[in-house]
Amino acid sequence: MESHKILVIGSANTDMVVKTSRLPKPGETILGGDFFLFPGGKGANQAVACARLGGAVTFVCNLGNDVFGKEALEGFKKDKIDTSFITLDDSQPSGVAVITVNENAENTIVVAPGANGTLNAEKVLQLASVFEQTEIILTQLETPIEATEAMVKMTKKYKKRLIINPAPARELSLEILDGLFLITPNETETELLTGIYPNSPEKCLEASTILLKKGVDHVIITLGKEGAFYASKNENFLIKSEPVKAIDTTAAGDVFNGALTLSLAQNKPWKDAILFANKAAAISVTKMGAQSSAPYLKDLTIQP
Ligand code: ATP
Repeated sequence: MESHKILVIGSANTDMVVKTSRLPKPGETILGGDFFLFPGGKGANQAVACARLGGAVTFVCNLGNDVFGKEALEGFKKDKIDTSFITLDDSQPSGVAVITVNENAENTIVVAPGANGTLNAEKVLQLASVFEQTEIILTQLETPIEATEAMVKMTKKYKKRLIINPAPARELSLEILDGLFLITPNETETELLTGIYPNSPEKCLEASTILLKKGVDHVIITLGKEGAFYASKNENFLIKSEPVKAIDTTAAGDVFNGALTLSLAQNKPWKDAILFANKAAAISVTKMGAQSSAPYLKDLTIQP
């Protein structure tokens, strides 16, 4: 496969999951069940998903100079990700998410961003050589917004395409949206950004139109098992997802974004890119975990 360079900038966390019969009340200690340690963080999940499908990925994040950070770094290297611009920060711990899950699969999650919080504008502005050589940039909103603003500046300067997966949901300024190549909100993020919950094709179009009017070139709303809705000024359509037996939808959105970015880096048409992303994400929901569920190219019957 021809290798088009892809830059992913964002968060890396270690997810610490304890299964419990019920969630503890404030002040209460309960005895939990199984404990799992999973590599996570939206930036890392998307970088890994893209690399496993054959993308030439450079991932930029800040990790703590601790056992979690070193473990994460090794994992990225195993997935053949270029880690040259990852910082091991001595002043901060690696980001962690402390998660409890009860028997009804309800959870509580506390994220301590740690080193992710130190990924600032200065670090992004120092990446001139990487921006120059890259085909496309993918980011999310788990790192400081000043870093996102710097990415907008750099993509404009070097005339590159920036994709923002606006997760976790937050409002975005016109400065970020105007001229943005692609935004990929899920249903709740769409509602926060537009005030419209996209539960029908008409509502999807209404919500997308608001984002297009703010200057975004392309909008893709991911709709869970319903698939994904695409809109630009010229056309709009829904691409249905693959019917599968879902076991765990954690990071479905991350696999979708990683796969989509790979296809777009290769200048594939929108319909083909979304079809490919839907297929990759559908495989991921049939497996447990975040990065552990991201498929490899050999698991798919179609090419990016
Ligand atoms: P998450 O937060 O779990 O990572 P998300 O809310 O960001 O996910 P979704 O819209 O739920 O994103 O899902 C992203 C994509 O994953 C969908 O567009 C679809 O392609 C695929 N997907 C999600 N759930 C299913 C499912 N049950 N069956 C098949 N495909 C699915």
